[in-house]
Amino acid sequence: MSLSRNAALSAVAKKARGAENSAEEIRDFVAAYCADELDEQLMIDWLRAVMTAGMSFEETAALTDVMAASGKQLDWSRITAPLADKHSTGGVGDDVSLIAVPLAAACGVKVAKLSGGALGHTGGTLDKLACIPGMRSALSMQEFKQQVSGSVGCAIAQASAELAPADKKLYQLRHRTGTIASVPLITASVLSKKIAGGAPNLVIDVKAGRCAFMQSREEAQALAKCLFEVGTRLGRRMEILITEMDAPLANSIGDALELDEAIATLERRSVGRLRDAALAVATAMVALASREDEQAARGRVERALDSKAAELRFNAMVAAQGGDAAGFTRAFVPALELNAKRSGFIGSIDGRLLGTFVARHKHHDRRAGLRLLKRRGEAVAKGEPLLQVFAISPSQADERELEATVQIGPNQIREPEVVLGRFAA
Ligand code: URA
Repeated sequence: MSLSRNAALSAVAKKARGAENSAEEIRDFVAAYCADELDEQLMIDWLRAVMTAGMSFEETAALTDVMAASGKQLDWSRITAPLADKHSTGGVGDDVSLIAVPLAAACGVKVAKLSGGALGHTGGTLDKLACIPGMRSALSMQEFKQQVSGSVGCAIAQASAELAPADKKLYQLRHRTGTIASVPLITASVLSKKIAGGAPNLVIDVKAGRCAFMQSREEAQALAKCLFEVGTRLGRRMEILITEMDAPLANSIGDALELDEAIATLERRSVGRLRDAALAVATAMVALASREDEQAARGRVERALDSKAAELRFNAMVAAQGGDAAGFTRAFVPALELNAKRSGFIGSIDGRLLGTFVARHKHHDRRAGLRLLKRRGEAVAKGEPLLQVFAISPSQADERELEATVQIGPNQIREPEVVLGRFAA
């Protein structure tokens, strides 16, 4: 093997005493692990040492680079049009990709969006798209590139196992050994996949709050800065948005309901925080990829939504991926309605609990989910409906569990801004 046992032990010992590993050490260590030439326990020791000691931006860039290079990388050098990708760290009711991808494409930006699966209590974009009969997300790399390069201009597809396989292997090990929650390790995991995807312009939406992966604003801020610094060091043009996620972003939770709300937003029949977040992300993609100022990009994005161009682009993407949009039934009949037990103002809404509730039921039926009828800060009268439950039998829905997720108090609060912060060049 290219790395001797002594060299591997020395790399681990260095990190364990809080020193920096060289780029070469990191490259050889990770490459040996991926080639099954490293004792797994040494990798576990190193990951634990990273959890405690952290990593500099240079070390994180070296780790990201070797992970990105561990498999195939998409080559877009023949595309002359602006090209972007976006990623979200995930939260409940996060349907931004379904809207922002066709929106940016309608503004002339090619969007090559590769998605992973759902994580824990959050739904995945591909699960939502799979509610459309016939919709395929397992595109070959060639199909994916053709769809993005051609007149459709965008695709949302499953990330191939051939891209950044080191991340898959390391993520499984991190999952087993409790070493997920580390800013540099998350950064390398997210960015290695995006870098292998090949887009030169990356917008990353870091969700901050109770129903997101990063629950505190401080953690979200630290991850956003690390993503920006590392992506930039690896030659990507980056914009990182930090967006608020204490409550679900969309009003709906559940794959089919969320897809319906995203389509309604594209059809200009739904406004609110989901639309605001999608406009912010699409604006960042257009500004970054087209090298345009923020205001001009925002104007173009709003016009693309208002003129139906984004809706048509979404339909073209669905059709190109074999989906029959008309076959997706948009009528939802509630199985249960939960009413307010007192009058007052809606305070907090616990999106994490609501997301967990839906995740427990969605394996039986894609249409399982719920819809919030009131948002934070809204007045509610005793007896008024608060939320509706779909495709879950009332005997399976613990009303007290659901009631506890929506707090009603005497004081009116203001919903926080959707975009809490950003890192951009
Ligand atoms: N999402 C990822 O892709 N990787 C992580 O490490 C955590 C969240």
